[in-house]
Amino acid sequence: MNAIEHATPALAEASRLMTVCNSCRYCEGLCAVFPAMEARRAFNDGDLDYLANLCHACGACHADCQYAPPHEFDVNVPRVLADVREESYARHVWPKAFAPLFARNGLLVALAVASSVAAFIAGFVAAGDPQALWAAGSEPGAFYRVMPHNTMAGLFGLAGAYALVAMAMSLRGFWRATGAASAGAADWTSIWQAAMDAARLRYLDGGGAGCTSDTSGTPDRRRIAHHATFYGFLLCAAATAVATLYHFVLGREAPYPWWDIPVVLGTLGGIGLIVGPIGLLRMRLSRSPVIASTRRTGMDTGFLAMLVLVAASGLALLVLRASPAMGLLLAFHLGTVFALFVTMPYGKFVHGLYRFMSLVRHSHEMRLMRSSGAPAGK
Ligand code: SF4
Ligand code: SF4
Repeated sequence: MNAIEHATPALAEASRLMTVCNSCRYCEGLCAVFPAMEARRAFNDGDLDYLANLCHACGACHADCQYAPPHEFDVNVPRVLADVREESYARHVWPKAFAPLFARNGLLVALAVASSVAAFIAGFVAAGDPQALWAAGSEPGAFYRVMPHNTMAGLFGLAGAYALVAMAMSLRGFWRATGAASAGAADWTSIWQAAMDAARLRYLDGGGAGCTSDTSGTPDRRRIAHHATFYGFLLCAAATAVATLYHFVLGREAPYPWWDIPVVLGTLGGIGLIVGPIGLLRMRLSRSPVIASTRRTGMDTGFLAMLVLVAASGLALLVLRASPAMGLLLAFHLGTVFALFVTMPYGKFVHGLYRFMSLVRHSHEMRLMRSSGAPAGK
């Protein structure tokens, strides 16, 4: 029935399920996956990576499926697409030699955090002024007595640049493999539509009934926790950008007073990065194991725990910066941020990027179908 060779058993199973669903089409109103599936008759590995990254794992199609186990068709779309999605991160990673890092990501994150924090503390001590680690001070420039600004900017600039290059190369591989590059899908209308869909988490609503993957009975909790995490991250990034402008354009040095823009943005973002990831971690516990990925890499848990560590240490630094704990807290906070940067291309962070690119592709594809007169879904 299916002449296409697939690289892994998960891809072969996803291809089988998409063929069953394409005949059934009962779920076509639930999310973006089904209209994109209906636009195809056969599914190569790139198509399946694209469909898997369109899926939000809301579980609605499993709850509705008359062919789910114990039916002999054994249809479990959320679980199989979750497996393919996790494989897709390793398949398109740059450099390729780092693909095995995804296999034990939880361990990688733990090692990266521990070694970065230890290195930052040891670095401060070895810099010749161990006293600076115990010095109090919240006046402008106090942080740079612990670590000079140029050293800090150089270290994080290098780590950030590496993460950006690695993620851009991975996305390029994903974009090409899904056929989006040859389809010319990256036009501004599609990008704008994808940004709107991502900002609202449009397809996490299970077709209107809410996310059913959380068995606690509150359908919108997963969407709210995702929003808190996403906007918390953006606010923290905005705080860093404003502080950089303050330093280089206005000549104003950190730390800043509590009412100043970087502190207000960072505080709100930090709260979002504690509330959101903790909510998502709790929902992992109440998540139905039936639709969860069979690959247990600790990728979600490691990434979410690291976000909480970054935010909590940043907020603790804000509250205790005038105390002798400032130096140690700064070292701990910088260590966690550094670990976040270096593990970004090899962990759960990439799911947001792949999802966004899939939404761009989907928007382009649906517009083409509508303009050709073909029925196009969500
Ligand atoms: S998930 Fe089940 S009900 Fe939904 S389209 Fe596929 S086979 Fe049909
Ligand atoms: S987003 Fe929800 S409804 Fe759509 S394929 Fe994934 S689990 Fe099924």
